[in-house]
Amino acid sequence: MKVTVIGYWGAYPEANEATSCFLIEEGQTKVLLDCGSGAVAQLQNKIELKELDGVILSHYHHDHMADLGVLTYSRIVDISLEKTDRPLQIFAHNHDMKAFDSLGSATYTSVVAYNESTPLIIGSLIVSFQKTAHPITCYAMKIESQLTDKVLVYTADTAFDEALIPFAERADLLIAETSFYADQDGSQFGHMTSEEVAQLATASQAKSVLLSHLPHFGFHHQLKSEVQRGYGKQVTLASTGAIFHL
Ligand SMILES: [Zn+2]
Ligand SMILES: [Zn+2]
Repeated sequence: MKVTVIGYWGAYPEANEATSCFLIEEGQTKVLLDCGSGAVAQLQNKIELKELDGVILSHYHHDHMADLGVLTYSRIVDISLEKTDRPLQIFAHNHDMKAFDSLGSATYTSVVAYNESTPLIIGSLIVSFQKTAHPITCYAMKIESQLTDKVLVYTADTAFDEALIPFAERADLLIAETSFYADQDGSQFGHMTSEEVAQLATASQAKSVLLSHLPHFGFHHQLKSEVQRGYGKQVTLASTGAIFHL
């Protein structure tokens, strides 16, 4: 499984970058976890848009789905130009029916509701979900390879939640939202501090951690050292285009 950081900012993208978006590739399968602002421009540095199978949305906040509409337009163009005949698959929860119903039209997209009880099978990947602690309904995702048994866990947006510990157990890579510094309190906003990320990573015995959903204040290297202080294994700050092979 190959994981590429397409965007890693929280809230809005800084110049020439993107908010939350990760490209997951295994064999012929190519899917995005979230599709934040700026993601479509960044994604084309890695693959052609027509190659993408689909997008799995964690929740309906703009920094996770702002580019979904234009990604859908790209598929309309590519199908119209006969570059592909495959609709874009969109996987999302339907706890907000209004948001779910507005995700796409039948000809160019295939919109599927996911839930906590039935994992999705996408190519060789098994994707399961767990609700997080966030002001609107949001799901963390676990992506398991049937080929290699490697496990990727993406917290999406969440305050520290003990229920995430078993969900993230022994992830080869834990993509953890790290929105606040150790001396702050992100819980009222539904986000984690660096200290809480260290706690989650340690308790779940994650093998490595990628810090994402980074804030627009302070110094990110401080976030990294704060996580390292409580978690003895590999910690990486997300950066545009960074690639991880699991
Ligand atoms: Zn967010
Ligand atoms: Zn959010």
